[in-house]
Amino acid sequence: MPKADEKGTVGCILFLRFCQVITTACLAFAAKSLYELVRDHKELQSPPYDKHILLAQHLVYAMGMTSFVWLFVGFALIIVFKGPAIFVYGVIDLTIAITLCVGAGMQAVYLPATHSVCGHAETWQVVGDQPSLFHLAASFQVKKDAVDSCHQFVSAWVLAVVVIVFEMLTAYIGIFSDTREYSFLNPYRPFAWFVIIIFGLPYWLVAFITPRARFTYRFVKKVSRSIRGLEEIEFEETPKYNPNYANIKVFNPGLQRILNIEHLLLPIASGLDYVDLINLSLTSKSIRECVFPAGDLVYRTRKLKEYSCNMDTKMKCLYCNKQVCEDCTITRNLPGLEGARHLSLCRPYCTRCYFRTIAPGVRRRGTDKSGCHCSVADDSIQDQKMCRGCGDVHWEELQAARTKRYTQQLRNLAVGIGLPEGENFECAKCKGEIKAGARWWICTKCKGECKSYMHPAWARSPKGQNEEKENEKGLGDNNV
Ligand SMILES: [Zn+2]
Ligand SMILES: [Zn+2]
Ligand SMILES: [Zn+2]
Ligand SMILES: [Zn+2]
Ligand SMILES: [Zn+2]
Repeated sequence: MPKADEKGTVGCILFLRFCQVITTACLAFAAKSLYELVRDHKELQSPPYDKHILLAQHLVYAMGMTSFVWLFVGFALIIVFKGPAIFVYGVIDLTIAITLCVGAGMQAVYLPATHSVCGHAETWQVVGDQPSLFHLAASFQVKKDAVDSCHQFVSAWVLAVVVIVFEMLTAYIGIFSDTREYSFLNPYRPFAWFVIIIFGLPYWLVAFITPRARFTYRFVKKVSRSIRGLEEIEFEETPKYNPNYANIKVFNPGLQRILNIEHLLLPIASGLDYVDLINLSLTSKSIRECVFPAGDLVYRTRKLKEYSCNMDTKMKCLYCNKQVCEDCTITRNLPGLEGARHLSLCRPYCTRCYFRTIAPGVRRRGTDKSGCHCSVADDSIQDQKMCRGCGDVHWEELQAARTKRYTQQLRNLAVGIGLPEGENFECAKCKGEIKAGARWWICTKCKGECKSYMHPAWARSPKGQNEEKENEKGLGDNNV
């Protein structure tokens, strides 16, 4: 095995440093202005934008500057001190390269990799009604639009990647520069081993071990949640109404006679809202018995619901589930409900499909890494229609009760109960069967994993449950 040549090593390093100067200078100054932009505008650092954006920009800026200064310092030092000192220079370059790699890797989560994507800068990673990162960033700069801003961010990122390549090469030459013939650091040792150790091992760790480790971690968390069990949800049961016929007094026999005839009651109902019928029934025990006879409650309720309210806009009150329509609801401005989003957007994945969504570390976006972004919309104030009864209740009380009901609905969803019409309980990806065990929830809107604790972590097999009644527990109409 030949010995390495010190002169050649120093020559290579000096040549690389010389080539790197302009790129590194450009990176340092581009990264500085972007870092200052993000630092000075708190809006860019808060959701829905990446929460590590400030750190990522800071790392690249700090390392760009360090690398630029080190170019000159290293240049001077290597001319004076050679020999074993070259190894130390190599380690310094490696440290800069790795730190810069971490910064650029963190930026890669929220930046496109190429300039061509900047055409869609306005819609890049947009969540709900929020403007894209580039749109917002451009609004803080003079005479810039989202596309310019995108190019600015991407340019700095590409420069960082080029500098990383230079630093890696210099580090490699510096570290493997030992002039002793049998040294482990002699660059003439079989190159294949070097490649296997430096690149093969990390690749194997990233591509094979990381997804499995992530999956195991998530699985263990689900198991521990399943062992802790679900918190019991208590619903207030409305006691069954048992009329005491002996005590019922009839105040208006004429009216009583009319209401007692269903053929007459139903046309009256058709001009009323369902809540009005309930209010009518509350006028006296005898009227209640005519409108909602205890002996025939299920059938009569169905009939009355069919006839009352405006046919085209019939719906259920968001909060109490009573039948309402456009005419008998009121609108209140209230914060959104998290449960509504889970119920309409989150669907289960089978374990195999979930595992496939875990991108190895080298891929830039993975379902389990990004998570569902849609929670940002939860806090926004929205128009909510509800029955007049719910309109009088304090909103926090109303929403706490509804959240309880949503939690129960989500528990039911985990075993396939209460799915929207036409949907089957199956893996949302491969349409395969979902068995008993861990439940993985993926948001069908943003394709991120929903990690909300409202979803049960574990559930029994859904087989044979589909026939179970939906209004098992507090979910149906809790009164007439
Ligand atoms: Zn109505
Ligand atoms: Zn209501
Ligand atoms: Zn969810
Ligand atoms: Zn989502
Ligand atoms: Zn599947």
